[in-house]
Amino acid sequence: MPTLFEKIIAREIPADIVYEDDLCLAFNDIGPQAPVHILLIPKKPIPRVAAAESEDQALLGHLLLKVGEVAESAGIKESGFRVVINNGENGGETVPHMHIHLLGGRPLQWPPG
Ligand code: 5GP
Repeated sequence: MPTLFEKIIAREIPADIVYEDDLCLAFNDIGPQAPVHILLIPKKPIPRVAAAESEDQALLGHLLLKVGEVAESAGIKESGFRVVINNGENGGETVPHMHIHLLGGRPLQWPPG
């Protein structure tokens, strides 16, 4: 059963896509928690970051390298932003397809709730 994010990758569900390459996709979160809230996901359906395997090492590096590029395109690179990966129930993960949240456009509180 494909996840919601696999359906977005397949264009079966619409999304406001801001970046795409062979390995990953970035799109605006449907429920933004900040003026800029982008989800960056691997096209490979890794359920969560803790489920990644050694064969995913280059893919994980690719995703982190893309963070700065996507942030720059969204205009939040200079002002600063936060990168969040929720993992599992206590981590607040609701979609079982690994995703990196990019949050910015306002000062963010720390520690998170
Ligand atoms: P999680 O809570 O799993 O870390 O993050 C899942 C995120 O996916 C949430 O921030 C939620 O707002 C977002 N989301 C859920 N459904 C959709 C959707 O259909 N489209 C988009 N663009 N984002 C979604």
